[in-house]
Amino acid sequence: MKNLISVGEAMVEMSPQSLPGHFHMGFAGDTLNTAWYAIRLSPNWNVSFMTAIGRDKTSDQLVSFLADAGIDTTHVQRHDDRTIGLYMIALEKGERHFSYWRGQSAARQLAADRARLDEAFAQADLIYFSGITLAVQEGDGRENLLAAIAAARSAGCQIVFDTNLRPALWDDNEQMCDWVSKAAEVSDMILPSHDDEAVHFGDADPEATRDRYVAAGATTVVVKNGPRTIHYQHEGRQGVVQPAIVSDVVDTTAAGDSFNAGLLAAYVEGAAIPEAIRAASNVARRVIKGRGALVPIK
Ligand code: ADP
Repeated sequence: MKNLISVGEAMVEMSPQSLPGHFHMGFAGDTLNTAWYAIRLSPNWNVSFMTAIGRDKTSDQLVSFLADAGIDTTHVQRHDDRTIGLYMIALEKGERHFSYWRGQSAARQLAADRARLDEAFAQADLIYFSGITLAVQEGDGRENLLAAIAAARSAGCQIVFDTNLRPALWDDNEQMCDWVSKAAEVSDMILPSHDDEAVHFGDADPEATRDRYVAAGATTVVVKNGPRTIHYQHEGRQGVVQPAIVSDVVDTTAAGDSFNAGLLAAYVEGAAIPEAIRAASNVARRVIKGRGALVPIK
């Protein structure tokens, strides 16, 4: 069985219910969402989630949640005096607003120990991480993570990176763009979303986003663009795929995360890239017709 390791931060999600002051508690986070969809879509793969959590009951609940979903928890580290970050959703006139408590989260330390990363990655066939994974690391975490990923890549592991630009998690735009570009340089497959890249890197169109990441050295670049045309390049060949129109969008949360899982699931089973992109956009299409990040599509 092949091993996919998704690396990043899981958070407690508190989403408001119809009765004022009542919330539903769940778990979410970009790389967790992708792992959650990947295990549903890739039954032939071992999907593990690498993160750091606390030793408290809420952290135990996350481990149970992952295990119940079929996600391997071998690489979940326990931190003695930290716990999981949390976000709360506030609804105003149908719009979702987010408040975060994640500044001291255990996941900020997930890459503190380089040897631990190397040990985990030695078992991996595919490593998936994001700009958020990188953004939240403290101390030497970013250097450690990228060095361990580069070493795994040299040993033959495929590296897949979603740039997931979140300026609020970085000191400034320059710092974000520098680190995201460094991460791109150690990646085989890059999955950006054009609207964010246009704002923060100044890309005039999706082709510019594609070309910039191809220039960083990736074999495969797939540029998502909401309901608009997806531009890709794979092994030197360029093309486009048009996602199906969705007239009854309920909630676009995790569109990109589920798309990435759909793409990987098809790709690891040997699908050609255009076919894998079509499969990915069909997964995302079903996810945006449901509420929340984790929509049971299978
Ligand atoms: P992110 O969530 O990372 O910002 P996007 O919004 O670009 O990602 O969406 C990812 C994918 O989800 C798109 O490439 C497309 O396949 C699908 N998607 C997103 N929004 C829509 C929509 N309104 N209609 C149809 N497909 C969509």
